[in-house]
Amino acid sequence: MLSLDGFRWDYPNMTETPNLDSIARVGVRAESVRSGFPSNTFPNHYTMATGLYPDHHGIVNNHFYDPESGMTYSMRDSASRMNPYFYGGEPIWVTAEKQNVRTASYFWVGSELPIQGIQPSIWKYYEHKFPFEQRIDSVVAWLQLPKVERPHLIMWYMHEPDAIAHKHGPESEVTLGKVRYLDSLVGVFCKKIRSLDHANRINLIFTSDHGMGAISPERVVTLSDHIPEHWVEKAVGGNPVYNIKANDGYIDSIYTELKAVDHIQVWKQGEVPSELNYGTNPRTLDLIVAADSSWSVNWAPTPDHYNSGGTHGYDVRQLDMQAIFYAVGPAFRKGYVQPKFDNVDLYPLIAHIIGVEPAKVDGKLENVKGMLVK
Ligand code: AMP
Ligand code: ZN
Ligand code: ZN
Repeated sequence: MLSLDGFRWDYPNMTETPNLDSIARVGVRAESVRSGFPSNTFPNHYTMATGLYPDHHGIVNNHFYDPESGMTYSMRDSASRMNPYFYGGEPIWVTAEKQNVRTASYFWVGSELPIQGIQPSIWKYYEHKFPFEQRIDSVVAWLQLPKVERPHLIMWYMHEPDAIAHKHGPESEVTLGKVRYLDSLVGVFCKKIRSLDHANRINLIFTSDHGMGAISPERVVTLSDHIPEHWVEKAVGGNPVYNIKANDGYIDSIYTELKAVDHIQVWKQGEVPSELNYGTNPRTLDLIVAADSSWSVNWAPTPDHYNSGGTHGYDVRQLDMQAIFYAVGPAFRKGYVQPKFDNVDLYPLIAHIIGVEPAKVDGKLENVKGMLVK
């Protein structure tokens, strides 16, 4: 399973993606995949791995504060990123390894550290600049290992077209150029897979963690313009979703002030719309603030370039936050269009395909079994 970061569900409608299109013809394409809230990279890769919503697995945002320990987690701080304390649930590679099924990960969130004391048989420290072409060659090489060493599940990752779309926006020509390049890599990879002896026993999934929405310096809410600093103990997260811990006695004041601000939503814990499955984990803090579609929200004033281009993290019911899913191989039907599903359903889907007993999760096989041959 390859995750192409931020590959919005409708990029293939916006430019040419002949390789993904041909997978849709000989395999499965989903209408779209709904992410877990917030539609950010770390919560969602870990949701795809565990079958649990971010609220339930504990990676509640790319950056968050844990009131129980007083520790802060940040995707950019490797000490916190590699601390097992933060990671709840059971990634699919742990489920598989426990049942003696070998797995490999190439940069999947959570695979750099032991969870329940277990890591994939093959894994790597995150190295952003490592060329995509070489990632392809490693994955193909792993599939050629002797049978006893060969992984039966490989989860791998590329950070585009997310990075370029943050800078230039989802509809820009450079972003769509990157989409075409990634599609060509999908073609290169599939061709290499087809040349393997056991090609007809390999299932391929191409998916993504979330979509991307255009933003503009003309649509910005600055929280510190509305609430005095001494009301707030912590404001963590980032545009467009913040988790706020109030100083003693100020929850209602912050809530009332922010409720009156246009273009953002503010929820107390327990008040988040049920479809977002968010706001019961203590790490979501006292208040959750999310910008409306195409708006930016920042704690402090920020330079225009931070509010230009694109971002994600928004309400996952928005279409532009939704992701792709393409799959081909002996497990999958041919030419099947899968109705929209939630990315929590990927865990039971993979558990079924590789033949392991799943842990108890939020996702359900029955939501996606229509795409399977049996
Ligand atoms: P964002 O767009 O802020 O949600 O995050 C995207 C970024 O996450 C990518 O550009 C990568 O730099 C980073 N990233 C993705 N996976 C990993 C990982 N396993 N370890 C460290 N950083 C990662
Ligand atoms: Zn992402
Ligand atoms: Zn991103």
